[in-house]
Amino acid sequence: MAGESDAVLEIRGATVRFGDRLALDGLDLTLRAGEVFALLGPNGAGKTTTVNLILGFLRADAGRVLVCGRDAGTEPVAARAETATIPEQVALYPNLTGLENLRYLATLAGLSLSRDAARRHLDEAGLAAEAQGRAAATYSKGMRQKVGVAVALARRARLLLLDEPTSGLDPAASAEFSGIVRAAARRGTAVLMATHDLYRVREMADRVGVLRAGRLVEEIDPGRLDHVALERLYLDTLADGGAA
Ligand code: ATP
Repeated sequence: MAGESDAVLEIRGATVRFGDRLALDGLDLTLRAGEVFALLGPNGAGKTTTVNLILGFLRADAGRVLVCGRDAGTEPVAARAETATIPEQVALYPNLTGLENLRYLATLAGLSLSRDAARRHLDEAGLAAEAQGRAAATYSKGMRQKVGVAVALARRARLLLLDEPTSGLDPAASAEFSGIVRAAARRGTAVLMATHDLYRVREMADRVGVLRAGRLVEEIDPGRLDHVALERLYLDTLADGGAA
């Protein structure tokens, strides 16, 4: 059975247990093309479990996850083909340049990328031409992330998963990365990001959800997140260690 036709990601009643610990407790979340959803939550709230479920690295004990209509539990390879992940630290081959890394990583994804196409994707991801020919060992975190974005562009991923994308970036790099994510969303990519960066959430996300003890307990319009609301959100949801 297909899910909602225009949904890129559909999570319905997803429950995941580790022994007697409930990591996800009937999670529901729908994400459409071009939407950026920020998942906020204290440590242990279930953010990583959610990402692992979408990638098919975990099976739900109950409920289901569909990526572009593909069941991540029963068709993980098909679901993963629609998905690109940018982890907190993008792993690159240090002795290869950014351009070489992208072409090699594309090969691993079954794509043959010409130098020109690779350059175009790196340009689009915001990696300066000078950096594209430099060994990745010299890259900052932000530059590594741009290669990750370029891989996602090359793979035409419909869903982009970001884990703490702006942690450790300086304000300029963080603002630039926000712009890159917004541009990907304008091209129709759906973006799900786990973050603690309340400041960037306002400019990056269309929707903000608070995950607590494996449930989405609140969804907030980021336009309403003024300074006071941000501080309340931080104190209420992030600074309490995730106690259920
Ligand atoms: P953080 O911000 O610290 O990364 P998180 O929101 O990503 O936290 P998860 O890693 O998804 O949270 O963990 C959710 C709950 O499931 C926690 O209580 C965690 O201890 C538990 N958990 C996660 N993975 C396992 C595992 N492999 N075995 C046992 N318990 C686990």
